[in-house]
Amino acid sequence: MTLSKFQEIGRILREQRRFAILGHVRPDGDALGSQLALALSLEALGKEIRVWNEDGMLDKYSFLPRAGLLTKPPSNAEDFDVAIALDTAIQNRLGTALPAVRSAKIWINIDHHMSNPGYGDVVYVDSSAPATAEIIFRLIKSENLPLNRDIAENLYAAISTDTGSFQYPKTSAHTFEIAAELIRTGLDVGRLSQLLYENYPRRRLELLRELLRTMRFQQSGRVASFGLTLETAAELGVLPEDNEGLIDHLRAVHGVIVAVFFEELSDGKVRVSMRSKTEVVDVCAICQKFGGGGHALAAGARVRGTLAEVEERVLKEVCDKVQALAVG
Ligand code: AMP
Ligand code: MN
Ligand code: MN
Repeated sequence: MTLSKFQEIGRILREQRRFAILGHVRPDGDALGSQLALALSLEALGKEIRVWNEDGMLDKYSFLPRAGLLTKPPSNAEDFDVAIALDTAIQNRLGTALPAVRSAKIWINIDHHMSNPGYGDVVYVDSSAPATAEIIFRLIKSENLPLNRDIAENLYAAISTDTGSFQYPKTSAHTFEIAAELIRTGLDVGRLSQLLYENYPRRRLELLRELLRTMRFQQSGRVASFGLTLETAAELGVLPEDNEGLIDHLRAVHGVIVAVFFEELSDGKVRVSMRSKTEVVDVCAICQKFGGGGHALAAGARVRGTLAEVEERVLKEVCDKVQALAVG
């Protein structure tokens, strides 16, 4: 009898003992919530777990149930039966969590990025899923793995953040059915939403003010961008996590098709974040040209060069795509 992918993963989860559960650098709600949810389900099965992320737990997500389980990877590598990468489009986006796994008999890759090349021994990549957490929920249900309120809150926070509060196009009836089932475990939607969306530090707004000063529109208002220098970031004392979601202010403007956020990094690279309102302009394809990846409507890359150089090169590519739209 051939096993389905979930049956294959379910069997590994039940049979093996020691698990590393990893997520991508500069984590978001989906990476952290998926990591904690799967870790808690395995913990309830009596497994030995490590939950590692290069950046550790972010302050703003530290309200997630059992957030303390998620730590930065240790400097001394450890051995595992199984290592699981969640929400991580390419393996090197595990950052320092990757070398912290000295050995693992089995690598599992669970993700929803269409650019995921399918690294690992057991691969489950579903690019139609709006969040990795939705796949984790389906895995838990289909394999009858433990699901409790703590797990549900982590999954709900992950799905809510990766769907832009149930707004992005991949949000389906099934997504709402999953949310309903999670809510029925007794979680308080109002409380969670407040913790997720009405709990920002004031400096995040100060950062937005500075970003808006650099705001630029091109292609008759169809391309919008802004940028952050290291100097401004230092002056404001912002943390990397503060800028998650600020790009949405650009995308939300009438007429904007593509929004781009440029952030100068300390390693001589620029972090590029891109959003599109239409699959006709596939920002994943654009970011892949610069060594990055992601989804058709939300993608990113890290590009070597100064802020000005990278802005020019990347915006040229975006503007060409948007211009071709009008002609074609
Ligand atoms: P962000 O703009 O950082 O929120 O990222 C948008 C999407 O693109 C996320 O799903 C990321 O996982 C993906 N992404 C961002 N940066 C990169 C990168 N350097 N390489 C591959 N995928 C990326
Ligand atoms: Mn993510
Ligand atoms: Mn995700």
